Amino acid sequence: MLCPHCHYYQNRVLETRSNASENAVRRRHACRKCGKAFTSIQRIEVYQEGAWQPVPLAAVPDPQPVAPPAPRPRLKRPDNPAPDRLHPITGAEHWLADIERDGLPPALLEGMLAWWNESRWGKHRTQATWTQLAFTLSAGRVAFLCKQGQHDIARALVEAGIEHGWQALKPEYLRGISAAPPAAASAGDEAAAAIRDMLKRADAA
Ligand SMILES: [Zn+2]
Repeated sequence: MLCPHCHYYQNRVLETRSNASENAVRRRHACRKCGKAFTSIQRIEVYQEGAWQPVPLAAVPDPQPVAPPAPRPRLKRPDNPAPDRLHPITGAEHWLADIERDGLPPALLEGMLAWWNESRWGKHRTQATWTQLAFTLSAGRVAFLCKQGQHDIARALVEAGIEHGWQALKPEYLRGISAAPPAAASAGDEAAAAIRDMLKRADAA
């Protein structure tokens, strides 16, 4: 049943009146969108003498108008709703020791914190996923590069993440820079040029 005022399809029933002997029901509704009230009538028709014949409704009282419901207060979305969200990271978090134990050099951890706090937090705010898992996944990728002896690539990845505001640090993102530098990186961009050189050397090795 559509609201006669705004044609919205959802409403709630405020009141129902029925009269069994008349086989009819009147309902008072309130539209869930515009809040205005309207009445509906449900009645029985009988098939008689080749046609549907309505049963009279005279005995069914019309419900008294009821004030439309007060609109629900809009819930304000908290800035940081999930308890496991973290921002910015101070560097004193106890679980950062695990990341260093997993192979991330302290100097690169500094860069990771800068990436998270300055680029990720500064650029993306609520659009980013601010969980410990999001941080440790990227840190794990950087640590993996270090374990493979690719410290230069690891450092380039962290620096490019800061420069380009990447939400995650993934080595394949560097390939994108290598193949086609983003417009933000001008031809004279030393960092982008250094990354391209490093990747060329890595490919040749
Ligand atoms: Zn309506």
